[in-house]
Amino acid sequence: MFQFTNIQDYHLQLSSGTTTCVEAVQFYLQAIQASKQLNVFVEVFEQEALATAAQLDAAIKTGQPLGKLHGVVVGLKDVICYKDHQVSASSGMLQNFTSIYSATATQKLLDEGAIIIGRQNCDEFAMGSSNENSAYGHVKNAKDETRVPGGSSGGSAVAVQAGLCMVSLGSDTGGSVRQPADFCGIVGFKPSYGRISRFGLIAYASSFDQIGILANGVEDIALVLEVIAGADVYDSTVSQKEVPAYAQLIKEEPKKYRFAYFKEVLEHDGLDQEIANAIKDNIADLQAAGHTVEPVSFEYLPYVVPTYYILTTAEASSNLSRYDGVKFGYRANIKAHEDLNTLYKKSRSEGFGKEVQRRILLGTFVLSSGYYDAYFTKAQQVRRLLCEKTNEIFSQYDAIISPTVPTTAFKIGEKSNNPVEMYLADIFTVFANLVGVPAISIPLFTHSNGLPFGLQLLSNHFTEPKLLQIANLLMKEKN
Ligand code: GLN
Repeated sequence: MFQFTNIQDYHLQLSSGTTTCVEAVQFYLQAIQASKQLNVFVEVFEQEALATAAQLDAAIKTGQPLGKLHGVVVGLKDVICYKDHQVSASSGMLQNFTSIYSATATQKLLDEGAIIIGRQNCDEFAMGSSNENSAYGHVKNAKDETRVPGGSSGGSAVAVQAGLCMVSLGSDTGGSVRQPADFCGIVGFKPSYGRISRFGLIAYASSFDQIGILANGVEDIALVLEVIAGADVYDSTVSQKEVPAYAQLIKEEPKKYRFAYFKEVLEHDGLDQEIANAIKDNIADLQAAGHTVEPVSFEYLPYVVPTYYILTTAEASSNLSRYDGVKFGYRANIKAHEDLNTLYKKSRSEGFGKEVQRRILLGTFVLSSGYYDAYFTKAQQVRRLLCEKTNEIFSQYDAIISPTVPTTAFKIGEKSNNPVEMYLADIFTVFANLVGVPAISIPLFTHSNGLPFGLQLLSNHFTEPKLLQIANLLMKEKN
């Protein structure tokens, strides 16, 4: 029977003839079928995945050079475009919308031989922390089906957790890859802002959005990153920096590192005591192993969530103005005597879900004249202070250690009527997006309630090799 542990091992199985790409795809198609109740995939590209797998198997026989991701079965969050396939941001607004191009990241996967198995459920327009804001209904956590998988890349996380694909691509604007990875007990990685092209990623808040990777292990993340990162003529915010050989670099001999942690984070009222203790124990273990771990004060903690929600909703109100019922997606029926404004209003009111509407309204408010300086400008100033603080910390430390989320996965419905409580679940993840540094959540712990939770690591801009190396080291030490 087909068994997946990591890409390297899968490639060994392929080259020794123990398995084939077709066998791998069949295995995942059956697993997806058997886990339908989790509501992970919005659409499965069954025939196409099998056909691609057969071609890839034939290529092995002819001895052609193989791609780095030959036969790797990948799922895409329903915000990442794939030419001639539907993409909807799990929104009523984009039902039946077909993309006319592929995201750069998608194209790079395909160029290296990956097989795209389907698109995955998520919070509408990537807005949410529980995957309950989806036009397709909520996703269930495979560990406990009464609980949320986290969001917004909930489907992408459960797909890896439940063994429905090898790797998923999600998007992380404020934690949407790391938080569901934490809730599902897998690895979730967000690169530096500008490391991966955003071309073909449906925009939520453009100065925060990054494509992220969800996988079982750090080695697979490193290999996929190596493939999808890099300069792109279609995205001027992506860095021209060369792409390091991440998969090779993480194998280098680990060093003794200097870690910082925020006192205010570990003392935070909302932080589950058991999670706090697990992180503290981990800090003690690192110190015992000869690393330096020191507390750093972070007086800005109470401001990160408000700053994040002001800036991202402002950007969202602008980005989502294109969905007007005329150019894209859903169009409401209006009566003959009604005018264009009514068409806009009805299309947007009927096409968008409640959370997206709330954010468009909030974003429009903080940008409106009279309030702009009090909210938007102020939040930009806080963002600047956070960047200065980040530079100061990373001039002295290799990485910051923190919990990923204050609690383990909550019950479906538990927070869906209280947006502010839901927003506070993002308190430890939004910082990395506000300042643009890379961050990863690794599944090191199990709570006494039986649920998994992770440890989050952040490092300086474009120091992914170091971040992945440290993450790999900590994962290995724990096992
Ligand atoms: N939970 C956060 C939000 O709702 C993060 C979303 C994301 O990273 N896409 O904005």
